Amino acid sequence: MKTAVCPGSFDPITLGHLNIIKRTARIFDKVYVCVMKNSEKKSLFTEEERVELIRRTVKHLDNVEVETADGLLVEYAKEKGAAVIIRGLRAVSDFDWEFQMALANRKIEPAIDTLFLASSEKYTYLSSTVVKEMAKYGADLREFVPREIIEDIVNKMNNKG
Ligand code: ADP
Repeated sequence: MKTAVCPGSFDPITLGHLNIIKRTARIFDKVYVCVMKNSEKKSLFTEEERVELIRRTVKHLDNVEVETADGLLVEYAKEKGAAVIIRGLRAVSDFDWEFQMALANRKIEPAIDTLFLASSEKYTYLSSTVVKEMAKYGADLREFVPREIIEDIVNKMNNKG
């Protein structure tokens, strides 16, 4: 069985993330979407909330599971029997950091490879940060995130401010 991990912050999941997850699920038998705990980044949603939002969005994809993990990504991948980590690439600006991480991960775990999927052109501009910025000013979020989670984002923004 071919297994892949799609790691990220997903704060919150966007249509760009979903596009990468769906394409990964077509290539691999099993996909683990992993919300990585990252104390460096200030997040809008808690890890548990992010997991719940992703689960709601991917519930029609039978071979996709959503979890959280902390610690080393390659350790998580190994635990799941995944030989591949999938990352999406939007623009050249993503490349330096992603390349560096891929090499560092291979150094600590040579059996696990990182594969990059080119972003779908209609989502190259899209990030969770853009979504949060738009939500802050009450923009229509339908072009940015799955419909099932729009209300959660609006509510979270309202409660915050
Ligand atoms: P991280 O903090 O690990 O970068 P993100 O949630 O920002 O987490 O992104 C998770 C993954 O999804 C990364 O591989 C990122 O490049 C990819 N990604 C994010 N937005 C898009 C998009 N619009 N199109 C394609 N890939 C994307």
